[in-house]
Amino acid sequence: MTVQFHTFIPPVRTLMGPGPSDVDPRILNALSRPTLGHLDPAFIQLMDEVKQLLQYAFQTQNQLTMPVSAPGSAGMEAVFVNLLEPGDKVIVCQNGVFGGRMQQNVERCGATAIMVQDTWGKPTDINKLEDALKANPDAKAVAFVHAETSTGVRNDAQALCALAKQYNCLTIVDAVTSLGGIELDVDGWQIDAIYSGTQKCLSCVPGLSPVSFSQQAVEVIKGRKTKVQSWFLDMELVMGYWGQGGKRAYHHTAPVNSLYALHEALRILHNEGLQSAWQRHADMHLALKAGLENIGLEFVVEEAYRLPQLNMVSIPQGIDDAKVRDQLLNEFGLEIGAGLGELAGKVWRIGLMGYGCNKKNVDYCVSALTSVLKR
Ligand SMILES: *Cc1c(COP(=O)(O)O)cnc(C)c1O
Repeated sequence: MTVQFHTFIPPVRTLMGPGPSDVDPRILNALSRPTLGHLDPAFIQLMDEVKQLLQYAFQTQNQLTMPVSAPGSAGMEAVFVNLLEPGDKVIVCQNGVFGGRMQQNVERCGATAIMVQDTWGKPTDINKLEDALKANPDAKAVAFVHAETSTGVRNDAQALCALAKQYNCLTIVDAVTSLGGIELDVDGWQIDAIYSGTQKCLSCVPGLSPVSFSQQAVEVIKGRKTKVQSWFLDMELVMGYWGQGGKRAYHHTAPVNSLYALHEALRILHNEGLQSAWQRHADMHLALKAGLENIGLEFVVEEAYRLPQLNMVSIPQGIDDAKVRDQLLNEFGLEIGAGLGELAGKVWRIGLMGYGCNKKNVDYCVSALTSVLKR
């Protein structure tokens, strides 16, 4: 008996969870174009444009700006393994899931993580960071998450970086969910190392992680006493392939078609303009908020530091979390996110990211939730 396998046709979905978000059809179209050799001059030209477009999106002049060929978690790891050496000390601010992953990365580099903890759903308290900086004058870096996807909180990246710089620390920022959705200014805010992802507010396919390193960070990497423990993520080796102009040497086979997709995603962002994209996220968040509050759903995070692209609401008393999400998925093809960690079963997380951040999705989500909650 031979088994028949059928081609996979994904069901129609509207993705309004914490990512991946709906991919713009223009990006899917770019993805399906013929593959080129990864050293083809035409492809190298595309790589140069991707770098330029990333510099625009991050608002940076950093030469070392490129997408790591792996998801956001790999960008996170790339930043830590390149900047840290055994014995280093890093202050990590945590107010959700992703700050915890920073701690894991720091420790796996043989460095010490000094944790600044804040309640999930609240922003990082800058006074606590200052206390930690005073108590640890030997700290090499301060690391935090700009947009904490697990809770929908925006940490004040500008203020946290300014403070870290006063204490001569490198600044390391997770911008996986913030890039393209809210204001982010890598050079203006003195961010030394930053990583993002493609599947959140860039509305691109998952699997790439844009990163950028300041000149100061590059000098730290060049001055290392020990080798970066990861061969694949060693920036000095990766730069041989992604380097500016000149000759490119084979390091790994770039995900050629995914880079077509990222190029298109960044081109779309560039055409819209950063300010307009941020404004659209802010406007759609207000529309969603009005709709959700109208059916009695309450936001958990205070307005002052709420993320427009990730809306966390409390699940009303007596409502079965999993049942509602199942009905939304099965009857409406609508995906929203569950709570993570200590918030599991208590909240929903509704994403309004990139291409999916539009009035049609806002109305669809509110009407689907209205219909399911009525039962
Ligand atoms: C999604 C996310 C990540 C991880 O990205 P992956 O592409 O899933 O590896 C890291 N940090 C934050 C804040 C995220 O939202």
